[in-house]
Amino acid sequence: MTTQVEVQTFYHFINGNWQPSSSQETFNVVNPATGELVAKVAKGTSEDADHAVKAAREAFDQGNWKNMKPKERANVLYAISYKIADHAEELAYLEAISSGGTVRRIGSNDILQMVDLFQTLAKFILEYPFSETLPVPPFPGPAHNFIWREPIGVCAAITPWNLPMVIATWKIAPALAMGNTVVIKPASYTPLSTLKLAEIISSVVPPGVMNVISGPGKEVGEALVTHPKVDKVAFTGSTEVGRRIMGLAAGTIKNTTLELGGKSPNIILEDADLNIALPGTLFGVFLHSGQLCESGTRLFVPDKLYDRVVQGLVSLTSKLKLGNPLDPATDIGPIISKKQKETILGYIEAGKQEGATLVCGGKEAKVPGCEAGHFIEPTIFTNVTNEMKIAQEEIFGPVLSVIRYSDVDDAIRMANDTIYGLAAGVWTRDVNKAYEVARKLQAGVVWINDWHMLRSDAPFGGYKQSGIGREMGKHSLDAYTQVKHVHTSMAQELESRNWYGILFGQNQGRGEV
Ligand code: NAD
Repeated sequence: MTTQVEVQTFYHFINGNWQPSSSQETFNVVNPATGELVAKVAKGTSEDADHAVKAAREAFDQGNWKNMKPKERANVLYAISYKIADHAEELAYLEAISSGGTVRRIGSNDILQMVDLFQTLAKFILEYPFSETLPVPPFPGPAHNFIWREPIGVCAAITPWNLPMVIATWKIAPALAMGNTVVIKPASYTPLSTLKLAEIISSVVPPGVMNVISGPGKEVGEALVTHPKVDKVAFTGSTEVGRRIMGLAAGTIKNTTLELGGKSPNIILEDADLNIALPGTLFGVFLHSGQLCESGTRLFVPDKLYDRVVQGLVSLTSKLKLGNPLDPATDIGPIISKKQKETILGYIEAGKQEGATLVCGGKEAKVPGCEAGHFIEPTIFTNVTNEMKIAQEEIFGPVLSVIRYSDVDDAIRMANDTIYGLAAGVWTRDVNKAYEVARKLQAGVVWINDWHMLRSDAPFGGYKQSGIGREMGKHSLDAYTQVKHVHTSMAQELESRNWYGILFGQNQGRGEV
């Protein structure tokens, strides 16, 4: 394990080149586990955003990329996947030192997910219906009709700090697969891995197809969202910023996908196998210190199992080791920033004030060797009611709210009683019962006896205020596609055209010119 980090300077990646900010300014990227400065990064301006959009626009309009045959583009996607695998160690390192994600998770999951997504979409575009022929219709008259699916154009992607590389890939892979060009703005805590990813991708795509610009959301993000030459916005982040982005994108009626916050319910049924459900619940809520949008933060437990479940959860939680994310022995890493740590501690205080019972954690943790880092003990509240603030608002930290129920329908009602609808889960030995519950849960993904398991060929996204649209799977290709209907009349004579009688009525037959 190394904690001594060399400070590098990263510029924007535009048109295949590293470019400093127009203001010449940089901002600091700090390791949240140690407080060390790890990089200086170009601080973008709206002028830089314009520059990046122009590069992406030219690369799109020039046509080489968008007109490439699907088979050739699939080969490029495979090439990107191999390059990601070749650079796995460097990418994982940049991700860990900036996001605080453990190298254990990034190495054994995130990199594989990225490789798999590029390869899965490469396979999908070989079968994608880029051109479909419709049967000759009796109405509105004989015609050849096609549906063509085309790229949308310049796609602006805006990403959060929690899973920077994976979430960037959810946007970049389908955008490129369909022949679009991309400008991505990563979160300012975590731009490093996305910048490196752009360099890797740009070694196999034409200049201008893949661009990254770092900087503040308010200036650079908003410049992208309102830019007239940007055709689509793909955003992942908080529901609050999502609302603003949706409003701003309305100015130019941009195609928009939003992946937003969550407060996901996790229901243990009476017949659940607790040997699996309890560690599964902790994996669902404490992975990445709870800084995951689909974390299972509200746990519904039947009366009959309540004490046993709480006891088991507390005992298992005490075994989790907080530490430096670069150490493979670390189970849980830091919180991204002092500000986020204070937000989480504020929610813990609110839980106590509202009368929930703190049964473990609840404090800032001191981690040897990481004294300047931001850590919070994995925290469990019992006697929580679904109306409490800690059960309704997204905390984005390692805090589990345990809520008691006596009737499954009541648990489902409470599970759905939230503005969010990203994920949900149910633990039971009875698969039919599980499907019945899954059918009633309002969420974009329902895990049965599992959590956080996402597949490249299955869609991910939210119901309600957790978002609009889906990422991954075939659905993500549709989200980066424009649909065009092309109609060719087969009628030989003027009189046999349906429209002739509609406009000319009694004047039919006087159409000679
Ligand atoms: P955030 O909304 O604060 O920021 C996300 C991104 O938006 C950042 O790049 C930021 O710079 C940018 N931004 C901020 N203000 C902007 C503006 N006015 N215009 C344009 N861009 C702007 O979110 P965060 O704190 O980085 O991430 C945590 C949030 O992300 C949580 O709410 C979490 O649930 C959500 N999230 C959702 C998913 C999902 O797939 N649904 C995945 C991960 C995270």
